[in-house]
Amino acid sequence: MKAFRTLYIFPHPDDESFGPAPVIYRQTKRGEEVFLLTLTRGGATKVRFKYNYTIDEMGEVRVKEMEKVKQVLNLTGMDIWDMEDGSLAYMNPVDLENRVAEHIKKINPDIVVTYAVHGISGHHDHLAIHATIKRIFSESDRNIKFPAWKRLALFTFPKPENSEQDGAMAHVRTSPVNMIDCVVELNQEEKLKLREALYCYDTFVEVIESTKVIDHIGDKVYFEFFNEDFKPVLKDIADRL
Ligand SMILES: [Zn+2]
Repeated sequence: MKAFRTLYIFPHPDDESFGPAPVIYRQTKRGEEVFLLTLTRGGATKVRFKYNYTIDEMGEVRVKEMEKVKQVLNLTGMDIWDMEDGSLAYMNPVDLENRVAEHIKKINPDIVVTYAVHGISGHHDHLAIHATIKRIFSESDRNIKFPAWKRLALFTFPKPENSEQDGAMAHVRTSPVNMIDCVVELNQEEKLKLREALYCYDTFVEVIESTKVIDHIGDKVYFEFFNEDFKPVLKDIADRL
């Protein structure tokens, strides 16, 4: 029997570390297989101007940083594609869908994880990948082209109770609390792994610190499950499968 398998799909190197990393670590630690697919090398980030890197040079640096994340989280497999950073929302959506679907088919996961509909930052690549994967999942559900996987988990943050968000995270998009189906409470070791994964991105230290992302995540990671509804919320993304 194959091990329980989760595939995380994000557009850019570091998307996996800005939140989901400690959940990935929990899964690999308990012997599950976790694969990560990143569609671009993330070379177009404005951080590159600070270092005077070309898009290609910045992409190379981020790929190296991501290799360190692979070690920290003990990923079973990692693929980094070289689609154009910033282009996913503007390319032929059928081509994007076919390529991603092919990969999902090859990995054959039980769960796929990507961004919620708002893409957290609202980056168009994040929105495009959400729409793409949701469509593939819905097709697989009807068993037309793809082998079905069981759950589509969407990484998110909850809408804060008072609408004023603290300055550094004011740009973060959130999900209404009633949309959230799973809240993973992190233990001390997992919180340290979040920090360790983020700090693999040497070129992003300023972003990590100015956004106070570690404080914002705190000790909880939130997911919506597409087409599933759990109240009370589940405590783990693999529960009830
Ligand atoms: Zn991103």
